[in-house]
Amino acid sequence: MSNYNINTKCVQGGYTPKNGEPRQIPIVQSTTFRYATSEDMGKLFDLEASGYFYTRLQNPTNDMVAAKICDMEGGAAAMLTSSGQAANFFSIFNIANCGDHVVASSTIYGGTYNLFHVTMRKMGIDFTFVEPDCTDEELEAAFRPNTKAVFGETIANPALTVLDLERFAGAAHAHGVPFIVDNTFATPVNCRPIEWGADIVTHSTTKYMDGHGAAVGGAIVDSGKFDWMAHADKFPGLTTPDESYHGITYATKFGPGAFITKCTAQLMRDFGSIQAPQNAFLLNLGLESLHVRMPRHCENALAVARFLKSHDKISFVTYPGLEGDKYYDLAKKYMPNGTCGVVSFGFKGGRKAAESFMKHLKLAAIETHVADARTCCLHPASATHRQMNDQELAAAGITPDLVRFSCGIEDAGDLVADIAQALDQI
Ligand SMILES: *Cc1c(COP(=O)(O)O)cnc(C)c1O
Repeated sequence: MSNYNINTKCVQGGYTPKNGEPRQIPIVQSTTFRYATSEDMGKLFDLEASGYFYTRLQNPTNDMVAAKICDMEGGAAAMLTSSGQAANFFSIFNIANCGDHVVASSTIYGGTYNLFHVTMRKMGIDFTFVEPDCTDEELEAAFRPNTKAVFGETIANPALTVLDLERFAGAAHAHGVPFIVDNTFATPVNCRPIEWGADIVTHSTTKYMDGHGAAVGGAIVDSGKFDWMAHADKFPGLTTPDESYHGITYATKFGPGAFITKCTAQLMRDFGSIQAPQNAFLLNLGLESLHVRMPRHCENALAVARFLKSHDKISFVTYPGLEGDKYYDLAKKYMPNGTCGVVSFGFKGGRKAAESFMKHLKLAAIETHVADARTCCLHPASATHRQMNDQELAAAGITPDLVRFSCGIEDAGDLVADIAQALDQI
């Protein structure tokens, strides 16, 4: 599939049935797999042969869908995980151990921030957070001798900042470490970070990829381009023998598949954050229309952003696809065909106006979710961030009047009309 356009990969990537085989990908609803001899199975446990033995590590349905996402991102190998959280955790923990350090963008998804700042710190992995717009000197100063990766989001959820991928990739590579990009909001339809220097790409497939609010899931894609052996001292887990697999060395034995093979063989084996094959099947249905849905999400978001920008009850609008937005130029460079469907904005009437606006919406549903075919929205100050006072909100980059509005794929005119009538009533 690799020579085809992304539109074709969305529909047909990952699985090509042979003569007489099912047209739709089969759901292999089996925890286990049968072998004729113990020797046959032994080869799998030694990683001498590839195959399936237990769905906690790998399942054929998952692998077909992972292969499609791999193809869409232009990667060398990929795997599915049970959630986006698991994907981001694995992407770091596969190469960073207790005593190591990671440089991360400060405007990342709140769940990822907690994972890094609280939970992974308990495991002894330290993080330095840098603003996505920091100077080159500030970025340089964040690195330490024990730094093992640089992490950021193409378009940050919910800050809607756009990461300068080439600049962050350049800094990571100058320090001999991989650049990991969470590409959830842009999706490979709008941006393929590997083309801009990313080494590892992660996804919460729960969002646009699924697109229908049906299944929580994640994915990790490896570009296969990072030369682990050239920085062997930094990544002993990949470049020295794994005693739990009879002394194989991932980087020399699996080449461009080294990162994903280690992640499957060690982390999936030990943590078991596998995606259910049923969910992988649902995810694939979503992927088959991703290239058709994304342009509509972006069109609707632009119509909503333009309407809000000109409305006299609105104090600010943030949308990287909107002319005049702080990130418009970066968005045009990395995402010339569109960014995402999420717009955030505030009210001249402050928190009270935001609360009243939310009450009067009819089409847009109040949900913590984003990136769904159905429009949904959230007032963080009274929901996800309600424990915080105004000062704490400000530190988190959220004003008390901010509303996050995730445009679905309904009619743009209907969405704007819904917003207009809700604004009229405040
Ligand atoms: C939602 C989200 C996650 C977490 O994914 P889950 O599937 O909810 O675990 C990670 N990164 C980004 C950018 C997200 O939007």
